[in-house]
Order: sequence, then structure tokens, then C-alpha cells
Amino acid sequence: MLPEGTGEGLERTEGRPVVAAVGRDYWGHRAGPRGFKTIILDAGHGGKDSGAPSKSTGLLEKNLTLDVAKRLRTELAKDFHVILMRSDDTFVELDERVARANRQGDAVLVSIHFNSGPGYLRGPETYFWRVDSHGLALRLQRALTQMCPGPMTNRGLVRRRLRLTRNPEIPCVLVEGGYLSNTAEARLLSKPAYRQCLTIAIASAIRSQAALGDSGTGPLPPPLTAPPSRASDRRE
Ligand SMILES: [Zn+2]
Repeated sequence: MLPEGTGEGLERTEGRPVVAAVGRDYWGHRAGPRGFKTIILDAGHGGKDSGAPSKSTGLLEKNLTLDVAKRLRTELAKDFHVILMRSDDTFVELDERVARANRQGDAVLVSIHFNSGPGYLRGPETYFWRVDSHGLALRLQRALTQMCPGPMTNRGLVRRRLRLTRNPEIPCVLVEGGYLSNTAEARLLSKPAYRQCLTIAIASAIRSQAALGDSGTGPLPPPLTAPPSRASDRRE
């Protein structure tokens, strides 16, 4: 389920992205990073904010996101400096998550969520907004659909201005690892082995981006100019 704070009315700008770089950048109108050393893992929701529930399994999104974030930390810690936005069942405001991300330079942010919608929808979905986040988003979506085959469909890549895709000044993506509202997918997500498969897929995409930059991810999307996303923006 997406955190609140989405926005519409995107405006296209002229100009091409500049060369790949790591470090902070307000707009992210540049190629994706390569050789970064720090991964910030954001387990969505937490504490008073449970996120999406699964009616069929009783699972709560906030617990699944924390489980996958911790699995990812274990998987990535030998190669990267890994920072968890939260490591227990606490509530952290979205703007605070952005502020914490912006204290890091040579880093990417991966926010982990699980989806909710009409019962027939299923499969992973990856959100990005900044040009420098497109390559990582594409790698994540590709890895999830190729490495964790199940009765799922590919919901694809979505470019959307969210507080966690627009406001951090580092490359940032939001992964929806499947639909808790879909009975079959919720059953899969209740299995530790399946969550480990999602973890390995996400880790492999991050490793590929660190090793290759945007190589093999196709043309960059056009730069978009829009103000930071705010809590008062339309909720989804
Ligand atoms: Zn969510």
C-alpha cells in the first residue's frame, strides 16, 4: 500500500540528464548510480500504521516489510553498509524517513511495501520518479518477476511522485512486493521461503545496479520537474 502524499500535474522540462554520479542531488536529473556503498532499507509503515491487512491470512503489511528488510540486511551486509530506517515495530513519519535518507550521500534508498487493491490484482510493482532511479527500479521489477515465479502477473514499473520517490536527494525506489488483497498471493507471502526469494531478487537487482550502473536498462526517462510531494497531496 502506498504511503500518502502523491501528486499530479507533472511538468516536463527540456534538457538531458547529466553523467552518472553518486551523492545527493535535488532533482535526480542524471543517470543512475554505480559503485555506491550504502543501502538504506525502508520497511514501510510500522507501529500505529499497520499498512494493508490480508483478510485471508491475517498478515499485516508492516510486519512483512520489516521481515523482508531484515532479510535484505543479512543478505547485503557483507558487501554494503546497510542502514535500516526502522528495525522494530515503530512508527516513523515519512518526512523523517526522507530527512534520514538525506543525511547519506553515497547511497540508494529502497522502500519496501506490499500492495492492496481489487482481489484480482496480483504481482510486484515498482515505483520511481527521479531519472537517476529508473535503472534500479527497472532492475528490481525485472528481478522480482523473473526470479520469483508464482501465480503472479507483472504489474510493471510506475513513475509517480511520492514522498519517498521525489523528496530524497539520492536515488530512491519503492517496491510493492505483491498484493495482500489477493488470496493466492497472500498465501505465498505468508511463506518464509517465498519472502526469501523476494529478498534474493531485490538484493540481486541492487548488486547489479552497483556493479553496472544503468548499463542494460535502456534509455533514460525524460527529466520531470515538480515540487516535493507533501502530506496534503492526494492520498492513495
Ligand atoms: Zn505500504
